[in-house]
Amino acid sequence: MGLGLTAKRKNGGGLAGRTLYVPQMAYAGGRLIAAAFRSIGIDATITPDSDNETLVLGGRHASGEECLPHKITLGDFLKICRQPGFDPAKAAFFMATSHGPCRFGQYVEYLKQELRNLGYGDVLIFSPSSGNSYDGFAEHAGELMRTMWVAVTCGDLVTKFLYKTRPYEITPGDTERAYRTTVHEFADVVSQQEVSFGQRYKQLVGLVEQMRDRFRAIPANYVKGRPLIGVVGEIFCRLNDFANLGTLQCIERLGGECWMSEFSEWVWYSNWNQRNKLTQQYGRFSLPYLKFKLKAKFQKRYSHGLRAPLAEDLAGYDEAHDIAHVLELARPYLPAEGSLGEMVLSAGQTIFMHSKGVDGVIDISPFTCMNGIICEAVYPAISANHGGLPIRSSYFDGTNVNVEHDLEIFLELARAYQRRKQHPRVYPSYFK
Ligand code: SF4
Repeated sequence: MGLGLTAKRKNGGGLAGRTLYVPQMAYAGGRLIAAAFRSIGIDATITPDSDNETLVLGGRHASGEECLPHKITLGDFLKICRQPGFDPAKAAFFMATSHGPCRFGQYVEYLKQELRNLGYGDVLIFSPSSGNSYDGFAEHAGELMRTMWVAVTCGDLVTKFLYKTRPYEITPGDTERAYRTTVHEFADVVSQQEVSFGQRYKQLVGLVEQMRDRFRAIPANYVKGRPLIGVVGEIFCRLNDFANLGTLQCIERLGGECWMSEFSEWVWYSNWNQRNKLTQQYGRFSLPYLKFKLKAKFQKRYSHGLRAPLAEDLAGYDEAHDIAHVLELARPYLPAEGSLGEMVLSAGQTIFMHSKGVDGVIDISPFTCMNGIICEAVYPAISANHGGLPIRSSYFDGTNVNVEHDLEIFLELARAYQRRKQHPRVYPSYFK
C-alpha cells in the first residue's frame, strides 16, 4: 500500500499548502514529473506554455548573461507571479540544479535573488541536485523517487514514439494526438494516490502496450530512405520546442526523421557521478554505496520492464543504457573525469548514433552554452574519424530566426553521407 496522505504531506516538507509549479522542459516530462508529485499528495502542476511574454519577462529581469533555459524558466515563473490573486506564500517553483562546472549550478540562487528583488521572496524554490543524483528530495520518500523514475521513463518512450512515427503519418496531426492522449493517460496513472508502487508499475506496463498499439494503428507510409538525424545537446534546449524553434519538426518537414537522446541519459550520467563520489568517499564496502547500488539496480530493472513490450518497434532505436559505454566512446575527445556535464554525453552519443547508422547529428544548445561550445570544438575530429558524418551545432538565444534554411543545407549533407556511409541503419520490421 502507498503511504497515508498525512505522512505524504510530511514528505513534501515545506511544500504543504503550496502549489508546486514544474517547468515544461518537455511536454511529456513536465506533466509526468508534476503527476509524480501529485501521487504523494503535493499539489503540483506545470508552468503555462511559453510565449513571447516569457521572453520579455525573462529578458527584462535577467542580467543578459544567463543561458536561454534560465531566461525561459524565469519568464514562465514570473508569468505565474503576475496572475491575479497570486500568493507567494502558497507557491513553490521546481528547479533542478547541479554541482557541475557550468552556470546551471548558480541559477537556483539567482532565481531566489530575482524573486526577492521583485517582492516574491516568499515563493519556495524546490531544488533537488545532481550531486546526490537528484534523490535529495526523496530522503523521506523512496516512493516518490521510484514513481518519478518510471514516469520519466514513460515520458522518454512516448517521445520516442512521437519522433519515429510522425514523419511517416499519412494524416497530419494523427501522431501528435496519439502522443498527447498517451501522455495524459500516463499522468493519470502516475498521479494516483493510495496505490502501491507495484500496482502503479503494472498499470504503466499495460499503458505502454496500449501506446504501442495506438501508434501502430496510425495510418502511415513507412518507406525506407529518410535521413535519420541524431539530436544531442543541452537537455532543456533540445527537449523544448519553444527554445529550439521547432527544429525537430522542421527536420521532419524537410524529409528527415529525428532520433533524440533521452532525458533518462542525464539520470544514468548523474548515477555514474554519484557512484564515483561514493567510491572515493566511502569505498565500495559501505552503506551509502550499497544503497546507491540498490537504487541503480531498481532503475535498470524497471526501465527494462517498461521497454520490454516495445522491443520490436524500437529495433534500430536502441539507446546506449550503459552510460559508461557512451563515456568511453567520448574519451579520445573528452575524458569524462575532466569534461563534466552534457558535453561528454553529446560527444559520446554522437559516436554511438553513428554506429547505429544515423545520417547526421545536430547538437542543439543555447547560445554561449559552455557544453555546446566545447562540443563544437571536438566535432570536426569526431566527424573526420567517423566517415565524415555531418555534425552541426545549432545555437538558440530566444531570437525568432528561420531555422529552415540552415537545416535544408544540413539535410543535403546528410543525404550525401547516407549514400556512402559504412554503417547501415537497422529498420523495424514494419518498414517497406
Ligand atoms: S548547460 Fe549550457 S545552457 Fe545549461 S546552464 Fe550550462 S552553460 Fe547554460
